[in-house]
Amino acid sequence: MLKEKVLIIGGGLAGCEAAFMLAEHGVEVVLYESKKNNPNPSQKLSTLAELVCTNSLKSVNESTGHGLLKFEMEKLGSLILQVARQTKVPAGDSLSVDREVFSTTITEKMAAHKNIELIYGEVLDPHEMLNKHGCQRMIIASGPLTTPALTDWIKNNFSSDDLYFYDAIAPVVDADSLNYDKLYFKDRYKDQTEGSSADYLNAPMNEEEYKKFVIELKNAQKVPARNFEEYVFFESCLPIDLMAERGEETPRFSCMKPVGLETQDGKTPYAAVQLRRENLLGDAYNLVGFQTRLTYPEQKRIFRMIPGLEKAEFIHLGSVHRNTFINAKKLLNVDLSTKKNSHIYFAGQIMGVEGYTESAAMGLYVAYQILRDLYQQEISPWPHECAIGALINHIMTQEVPRPTNINFGLLPRIEMNHQKRIHRSKYKNIKKEMMAKRAKEAFSEFLNQYMIGL
Ligand SMILES: Cc1cc2nc3c(=O)[nH]c(=O)nc-3n(C[C@H](O)[C@H](O)[C@H](O)COP(=O)(O)OP(=O)(O)OC[C@H]3O[C@@H](n4cnc5c(N)ncnc54)[C@H](O)[C@@H]3O)c2cc1C
Repeated sequence: MLKEKVLIIGGGLAGCEAAFMLAEHGVEVVLYESKKNNPNPSQKLSTLAELVCTNSLKSVNESTGHGLLKFEMEKLGSLILQVARQTKVPAGDSLSVDREVFSTTITEKMAAHKNIELIYGEVLDPHEMLNKHGCQRMIIASGPLTTPALTDWIKNNFSSDDLYFYDAIAPVVDADSLNYDKLYFKDRYKDQTEGSSADYLNAPMNEEEYKKFVIELKNAQKVPARNFEEYVFFESCLPIDLMAERGEETPRFSCMKPVGLETQDGKTPYAAVQLRRENLLGDAYNLVGFQTRLTYPEQKRIFRMIPGLEKAEFIHLGSVHRNTFINAKKLLNVDLSTKKNSHIYFAGQIMGVEGYTESAAMGLYVAYQILRDLYQQEISPWPHECAIGALINHIMTQEVPRPTNINFGLLPRIEMNHQKRIHRSKYKNIKKEMMAKRAKEAFSEFLNQYMIGL
């Protein structure tokens, strides 16, 4: 048994993964979960690791970001995935589970583990709990709806400027799914002389297209606000559908304004949607200013009305919801310990990932880092070619903190010769397969080199 006790705050996906991995390696864990007496409005079960919305942990296909992430998590001994496979329901390529059996099974495993003390209660002051239980370290894995008292504690002990409560996300599309015949590169007001490159891709609309689009936005089905998500918008960050509700011309005077976006023939379109590179690779574009409350099916239907986006594949759909997360780049070291107190770690959605699987993966990552430290091993760099390494690299380097899902756009590019690029759809599949193969090889090599002894 390693002489160490770790306090984990939050029995969600990240907290349970971290607790199990540490406990399996002989570390004592005190796991606190607040939901029994103090559930938040999205929680319906009293058990741990609740999937609060869909019951899907997404694709298992290893040529997708989610499949790759699962491959790596399983190699690390993920409890979440082991139980997900035991409790899965038929759902094709995606790993979907019976949420109650899934959550109950994980709770039973936590409660039965000899190295885990499971306590149902809200942590108000982590330092007090750390001392009370004689723990040397703590992991804060309290999720997107961290309780108000703990949120205040984080604010007071770290930085209120680096804690965010609200997330307005614009959709992101796969660059390979766009029709470039209808789109053009140009930065607003910039004279795009020959040879100069533009950062923005523009989708021009004529008057008829624009008016039809705005009517659809206005009438579309929206996700109703839950009582814990009071929509109080910043004027500079209004959802596109709310702009449409305010008036037919509002989007055209905001993110869809065409001024400075003349096409090559010198004409200014009636309106334009701007797409901005989501990553350095240019594999993905976000729709600038298109944060939205539309339901997912409505987003797909309506945003595919934009010229050039008729066959768009969405890497990430837009949303507006409550979400507590920190500025990881500013507050954390690469092992997810805080720069201010190296015995305090963050994991899961609160440190800047988004999604069930991503959050669980961060639980594994942080547990690995603590074990590495306990075994007095050097900090080992996780390869950026792999899903977990790419997620960490993205979160630790992004200038503007933005909760992130795993996607291939986070992985380093694979260069292919022009010949192979000709058939876009074929090229895309080959490229993904090559990236997946490279990721799996790099991860296996990493495990052989660094996981020995853990
Ligand atoms: C409404 C909503 C819908 C979502 N839908 C999806 C979806 O469909 N698909 C998807 O992939 N992701 C979805 N997410 C994101 C998803 O919840 C998270 O990605 C994932 O559950 C986060 O895992 P986590 O372990 O970081 O946090 P959680 O799973 O939220 O776990 C954190 C735990 O900490 C506990 N806790 C909080 N404060 C304290 C405290 N002070 N003391 C003790 N315990 C505390 C909470 O009760 C909770 O059980 C959704 C999020 C929300 C809020």
